Amino acid sequence: MTKPRLRFAPSPTGHLHIGGARTALYNWLIAQKTGGTFVLRVEDTDRERSTQEYVDSIMQAMTWLGLSWQEGPFFQTQRFDLYREHMQKLLAEKKAYRCYCTAEELEAKRAQATQEHRKPKYEGTCRNLTEADWAKETRPFCIRFKAPQEGSTLVKDEIKGNIEFQNKEMDDLIIWRTDDSPTYNFTVVVDDVTMNITHVIRGDDHLNNTPRQILLYEAFDYPLPIFAHVPMILGADKARLSKRHGATSVIAYRDMGYLPEALLNYLARLGWSYGDKEVMRLKEMVNYFETSAVGKSPSIFNPEKLLWLNGIYIRESKPEDLAEELIRLFKLREIEVENNATLIAAIKASQEKSKTLAEMADLVEFAFLDHVPWSEAGKKMLENEKVKDYFGRLIPKLEALNTFDRDSLHQVVETCIAELGIKLKELAQPIRAALTGTTISIGIYEAMLLLGKEKSLERLKNCLKD
Ligand code: GLU
Repeated sequence: MTKPRLRFAPSPTGHLHIGGARTALYNWLIAQKTGGTFVLRVEDTDRERSTQEYVDSIMQAMTWLGLSWQEGPFFQTQRFDLYREHMQKLLAEKKAYRCYCTAEELEAKRAQATQEHRKPKYEGTCRNLTEADWAKETRPFCIRFKAPQEGSTLVKDEIKGNIEFQNKEMDDLIIWRTDDSPTYNFTVVVDDVTMNITHVIRGDDHLNNTPRQILLYEAFDYPLPIFAHVPMILGADKARLSKRHGATSVIAYRDMGYLPEALLNYLARLGWSYGDKEVMRLKEMVNYFETSAVGKSPSIFNPEKLLWLNGIYIRESKPEDLAEELIRLFKLREIEVENNATLIAAIKASQEKSKTLAEMADLVEFAFLDHVPWSEAGKKMLENEKVKDYFGRLIPKLEALNTFDRDSLHQVVETCIAELGIKLKELAQPIRAALTGTTISIGIYEAMLLLGKEKSLERLKNCLKD
């Protein structure tokens, strides 16, 4: 048996959408599982909407997700010669023909059909013109595929089952435009056959293209790949997931502090399940994934569940493995942080409390800033006159410490509250506010340890000033 070959074929007209990422993942999983090849093909023939920025962004998102490809990226705009050869082959075999109908003529016929309650369809005006007729023509033309008019075309789909399309319902597809460029359905087939693609896993928004593409495969006498059309991802309102529902791009989730594996886990499970297993590492997904187990109906995107999963992945990660991602998030906030022991300690101190790396950055940012702004609540807490009293007692005790560690800090705080006759909370909260600027943070000892003796004292002393 030939080795499976799968492809992901994004159009670079936007950032990588999470729906696209799920399609890429499903292809990647099958390639991994079968020892097959995963090909990246950039479908950039829509020159007006495709940009290099989106090409780069899609590749960056795939790399970040860890969905590595073995071949590519191939660019459709660099393959026109190949498409032309295939178009000429169909012409030579009389499986395609020149069509001289103008857009206006076609539109008029369409309008008439609608008015007469007929389904608009290309009427085959130029279907039977001969080469002698062509020789006499001076009008511009496009090339149409001569599709069979009788019988039906069966799409055997791994997810949807068998779907039959009546050939008489299908137009003679334009494969080459008047402006001398190939059309989408044609390039996809030429690419899939010349790249020896064995499995086509894509969104079910392409399902209607599939019978048309199958007719082209047959015209070329190529074997059909295995098809699997994945249902769409919808928002809670059952509309197709779009910007209206919030962030939809992989890059946006990265920048909000999601981990690639958590996002992949969530996306894989969206539309596919393996028992009731929610947390599934990539390795397990590779073992268990099967296109035939993907659900037939659309899935509803649930951001809370993704957040919950991300929290699990953050908690279960080694702090060292989160460092680079956290540094990147700090960079977005224009805070330069080094990958050192302080950063690892900051991660350890906040890991349990953070569902995203952005939440983590919020919690430990104070340790990496020269000055922390006081939140409203922090300010209120520190304006209490008693705080000066409390800190007046605390500061010399901290200054006197030779070892600045958790135990000695704990002892100092305990001694202070005993001497002051107050509850721990009454001292801990102002300490927290002084160190972090906020009233919600990681533990106060962890906060002091992250800052170190000098910076901790500086922030506490700052509160004594009028
Ligand atoms: N370029 C198409 C898209 O982004 C994918 C087509 C295909 O997978 O066949 O929707």
